[in-house]
Amino acid sequence: MQVIEDIADKVEAGRRLTVEDGRRLFQHPNLTELGILANLVRERKHPEPVVTYNVGRNINYTNVCWVKCDFCAFYRPPGSDEGYLLSTEVIFAKIDELVAFGGAEPKSCEILMQGGLNPKLRLDYYEELLSRIRDRYPMVQLHCLSATEIIYIAHLSRLSLAETIGRLRAAGLDSIPGAGAEILSDEVRDVIGFRKDRTDEWLEVHRVAHGLGMATTATMMYGHVESLDQRLEHLRLLRQLQDDTGGFTAFIAWNFQPDATALGADATRWNGAVATGYDHLRTVAVARLFLDNFENFQASWVTQGPKIAQVSLRYGINDFGSTMLEENVVSAAGTSHTNDMNLETMERLIGDAGYEPRRRNTRYQSVATRAEPAALQAAGSA
Ligand code: SF4
Repeated sequence: MQVIEDIADKVEAGRRLTVEDGRRLFQHPNLTELGILANLVRERKHPEPVVTYNVGRNINYTNVCWVKCDFCAFYRPPGSDEGYLLSTEVIFAKIDELVAFGGAEPKSCEILMQGGLNPKLRLDYYEELLSRIRDRYPMVQLHCLSATEIIYIAHLSRLSLAETIGRLRAAGLDSIPGAGAEILSDEVRDVIGFRKDRTDEWLEVHRVAHGLGMATTATMMYGHVESLDQRLEHLRLLRQLQDDTGGFTAFIAWNFQPDATALGADATRWNGAVATGYDHLRTVAVARLFLDNFENFQASWVTQGPKIAQVSLRYGINDFGSTMLEENVVSAAGTSHTNDMNLETMERLIGDAGYEPRRRNTRYQSVATRAEPAALQAAGSA
C-alpha cells in the first residue's frame, strides 16, 4: 500500500483519521485496498462472521409535501389530485401483513413510517396514530418520522424540539430514522432543497433525541451536486455528534436517483453522472474508516442492487438493512430493486459472501424467531 501506507498504519493501530486522510482515501485509485482496510475495521468491531438483517416494512403515510425538494420524485404538492393520506385502517392492514410472520417477540419487527410535510397534520394526529399502533402491535418497533417531519410538527405546534419528541415518544415513537440528512452542508441544501431544514437543525433533532435516550440512525444521500469535501464534512459532523452523544445505531449511504426529479432534469445543476458501483463501494469504505465511532453500516440494496450490496459486505458493511416489504420513495425516482429482493435472496446473498445471516431488531439485538421466507415473499408482493 504505497500511497496510503501511513493511513493504513493508523487504521491498523486504531487511530482516528483526519479529514485530509479521508480526502486521500476518496482519491485513492485502488478500491481493493480501501476494501481491505474497511473490512479490517468491520472485523474488529464484528468479529463473528455474521451479517444481520431486520424484518421491516416501509409505510409512507402521506405523499403530500409543500417542501418540494428538487431531488425528490415522491412528493405531491398540497391540493394535487395525486396526493394521498393513508387511513389508519390501511396502515393497520399493512402492519398486519408484516406481523403475520414477524414473530411474537416485543419490538422484533420494524415499521419505518415516513411521509411528506403535510400541512393538515398536527401533533395530535401523530400522537393518536402512534399510540394506536403501539397498543395494538407490541411486536412492532416504531422507527418513524425524519428530522424534517419532526421539525415541522414542532413548528406547527409551537413547541420545542424536546417537547415535541418527548410527546411523540410518550405516544409510542421508539426511534428516529436518519432520513433527510442528504448532505449536511447548507451550500448543498440551498441547491437541492432550499426549503428544507438546515444542517444544524437536522443535527439538533438527533442531538435532542439522543439526549432523551432515543436511538437514531444517520444517512447520507450522495452523488448529486456535492463535492468530495462536502461528503467528508457530512461524515465529520456525524462523527462529532456521535462523539458527543453515542446515540446513532447505524450509518446508511445511498446515491441520488435522478429519474422524475427536478434536479435530475436540470443539466445546469446536475451532470447526469449517477453514482457507479465503484463510487458506492469507495464511499461506504471511506465512511467505515472515517466514522470510527459507528458500529453498524447498512447495505444499500434498494439503490445499488443486490449484487453491489453483497460485494459491499467486504467494504465495511455488516448489515443488510431491512427486508423492506414496501418502498415508495426511491421507486418514485425510477430505480428500486425491491422486486429483486426477498428474504431467501437476502440470505443467499449473505451466505454466498461467506457470512451467516442473522435476524436482528432495530436495536441490533438478535431476534430468536426466524422469519418465514415464503410468507415474507407473499406479503412483499401484496
Ligand atoms: S424529500 Fe421529503 S421534504 Fe423533500 S419534497 Fe420529498 S417528501 Fe418533501
